[in-house]
This record gives sequence, C-alpha cells and structure tokens, in this order.
Amino acid sequence: MSVRVRFAPSPTGPLHIGGLRTALYNYILAKKYKGSFILRIEDTDKKREVKRSENYIINSLSWIGIKPDEGPLRGGAFGPYRQSERNNIYKKYAEKLIENNFAYYAYDTENDLKTEREKLKKKGLVFKYGSSNRLLFKNSLTLKNDQSLKSKEKVIRLMVPKNKKIHVKDEIRGEINVLSEELEDKVLIKADGSPTYHFANVVDDHLMKITHVIRGEEWLPSLPIHRLLYDSFGWDIPKFLHLPLILNKAGQGKLSKRDGEKDGFPIFPLKWENSLGFKEKGFLPNGLANYLILLGWSPKSDKEIFTPDEIIKIFDGEKINKSGARFDFEKAVWINQKHIQNSDSASLLNQFPEFFENISLNEKSKVSIISLVKERASLLTDFEKESDFINKPLSYDSNSISKLNRANSVLILKHLCDCLNQKNFVKKNWKPEIIDWGKKKGIAPREIMQTIRVGLVGSLNGPDLVSIYSLIGEKAFLDRVKSLIAFLK
Ligand code: GLU
Repeated sequence: MSVRVRFAPSPTGPLHIGGLRTALYNYILAKKYKGSFILRIEDTDKKREVKRSENYIINSLSWIGIKPDEGPLRGGAFGPYRQSERNNIYKKYAEKLIENNFAYYAYDTENDLKTEREKLKKKGLVFKYGSSNRLLFKNSLTLKNDQSLKSKEKVIRLMVPKNKKIHVKDEIRGEINVLSEELEDKVLIKADGSPTYHFANVVDDHLMKITHVIRGEEWLPSLPIHRLLYDSFGWDIPKFLHLPLILNKAGQGKLSKRDGEKDGFPIFPLKWENSLGFKEKGFLPNGLANYLILLGWSPKSDKEIFTPDEIIKIFDGEKINKSGARFDFEKAVWINQKHIQNSDSASLLNQFPEFFENISLNEKSKVSIISLVKERASLLTDFEKESDFINKPLSYDSNSISKLNRANSVLILKHLCDCLNQKNFVKKNWKPEIIDWGKKKGIAPREIMQTIRVGLVGSLNGPDLVSIYSLIGEKAFLDRVKSLIAFLK
C-alpha cells in the first residue's frame, strides 16, 4: 500500500511555523516512501475563517518547497479538497451512523444546554452530554415518534458507548487507554448541516485513503473520539504521529506571535499584515526547513546541515521527540548562514533577486559581490549591507581609524597613488608592489593592507582587497585612496 499523508490546515489565519513543520514532516515521509502528499483545507467553521489565509497557506508551502500531489489547486482523484465543498458526503455518512445506531439526532437548543451547564457549574461540576445523561434530553432516542420534531433544528451526535475501554496508539507516544465515560457525545453534524472538525476529518482521512496522520499534539485528546468513529464505520485506522509543540525560548508554553514580537523574530513563514515572515527576514527556504526539521527530530549523527534530499534519505518518524522543542532564533540564523555559504552565488541571485535589487551593479558583478561577501552573510538581507561600500560614499569607522598609524598610513596611500598614476605601471600588480615597497621602508604587510582596507570599505573588516579592486574598478579605487589621504591629513 503506498503511503498517503495529508496536511489539513484550517484557514483561520496565517500559518504558524509549527504548522509549517507539521507539513514538512508529512512531506518528507511522502517523498521518502514515494507516496503522496495531500493538501486538504479544513474550512468547516465558516465563522472562524479568515480571508486570504488559504492562499497564504498555499504560498507558504510553495515557498518552503512543498508541492502537494493532490489539493484544491491541483485537484486529484479524491477531491474536492476543500471540506466546505463536501457537505453532501458528510451528510450521507452521518446518516449511515444513525441507521446503525452509532449516532442520533439531538434537538436541544443552545439555551437548553446553557441552562444545564450552569446548573452543574453551580455544583462545581462540568456538564457533558453523554452516555450517563443522554436519555434526559431532547433527542431521537427519547422522542422517537414525535412528528413535530421533523421541522425542528437538529444536530447529529455520536453515541459514545457505555463502559468501554477505548484503545488508541500513537507512534511517538505509544499506547493510550481511555474510558468511554470520559468522552462526550460529540456533535458530528451541526444545525446548519455542516460537519464538525472531528467528523469531517475522519471521513476524509478514510475516503482519501490516508495511511499516516501526522499532526500537532493538541489533537491527541481527540484521538479516542476518532477511534470510535473509525470503529463505528468498521474502517481501518491509519497510523498516528502527534508532534510535540514548538515552545518559546524559556520553554514555557507554545511559541506565540507575542514571543516573536518581543524578541524581534518572525513566527510566520511569509509576511502577514504587519509581521514580517522568515522569507522577508532573509531566510532561505532550505535553511528554515533544515532548522524546523531538527526542531523535534534528531538524526543519528551530529551533522546539522542537510539538503532536502539528504533529509529525505535519513529521516525516520521514530526519531521524532516526545517532548516540546524550544525555538532558538540564533540557531535558525546559524543554520541559514551555512546554507547561504553552501549555495552557488549565481543561483542565490537567480532565486532571490529581490535581495540584490539595490546593489547597483550588473548581473556579473553582482555574482562576484555575492561570492565576495557570502562568508559574512547569515541572512539574505545581509548582502545589501555588506555590499554597501560599492554604492555609497564611505563613512569611516572611528574605531578603525584610531588603530591606524596616521603618518605611515599617509605614506602608504601616497605611494599607492603614485604607482597607479604611473604610465607604465601594471595596475593589477599594485599589491605585490606595495608590499615590496613596505619591506624596504620597514612597514609590515599587515599594516599596509589594513590602511588600504579602511580606504576602500571604511573599516578594518571587509572582503578581500584585490577582489574589491576588480569590482569597483581603478577609478573608484584611486578616488577612495585619495579621500582617505585627505581625511587623515
Ligand atoms: N484542521 C486541523 C488544524 O487546523 C487539522 C488537524 C488534523 O491534522 O487532524 O490543525
């Protein structure tokens, strides 16, 4: 049987990186076993739906490199892939459960239930519509022949059996047993005819032939209800993997938008309203994917930097951790830096042109500058800063200036000017020439290069000088040397 996994987000807002990590684990498993990745939009709760979020989710998946094999855009043999387009299917299956006595109609109004809830609350108890009290309410079990009910609003509820031990298994956490008394007769079909999450989710996982359900651990408590639904239909149950939460840095609670805002890092893949995403912050999709995958899963070796293909090869679901993983932005940046350094300069320019737009150089020189400053860039946004010296008039870093021996520096720069102004001088030989000259004068090569570097980039740190020379050209080179002479004098 081929592996079929699904990512089933609700379009209730932007995709959190926890959701993105869930999608990645699903995708890796599908690729590893040459199976299929299905994108299913769980839009049953129209009240909570947020406009544009379905698009946002699809764009986020596409940015990180996930191409669904089946989904709302691409279609597929098991569609439609938006739950709001499947109401007839759910209705049919819910009626089947009623016929077989696994579900029933309930006519209690919101008000009726509210009254019950409040009554129990006063006694310090929590109200639960279930096997112990369902016969006290207005439903098709108690009001069998009441014709007037036909026109009344109703929901369909699951009939949770009495005194049953429900056994579920999670591949990460092992076996779990729950007593049916603890469960509620969950609503399966709401009064407006639409299904609830539990019902649509199980029916779809079955009809879409899902073999592995990989989702966040917040859904683990729902598993016994899902198990009952599978059993009521007599369906085989897929394998379940409930992923640990992504925690904030302190390890206290789920990583939230507020944690990100407080410490200035994103928690969404792409920009959403006023919050920048990882993309805009300058992450490579493969860099972020690498970090997220390691957040909750550990490979056997110490290796930390992986290409997507490498991960697909070595990933195994059994190594997913049980406990929550703390989000560490600095670590994510570090991993991204390694990915930048391992990337080919021309392909960085091709794939992410928007980060190089403001560097006013031609294509070829842009590739050179990318190679030149790549070692110093952790994020794609660093390239523009690191390439600043190309475009802008220099401002000198005062700390660097204070470290120069002014008299020597002026001598060095003047000699460099003289050489470059000489007619017969082979210009690209400026470096060995001035080092040679320094030897005779008793000035160390290091001091010479430091002086020239301050002249070219404004500070003691920066890329290789010979490369800068070829990038900015002879005229700019000479101009900068002269400007520093003037400044030092
Ligand atoms: N629609 C649910 C969510 O938004 C999916 C849960 C599941 O994968 O079963 O998280």
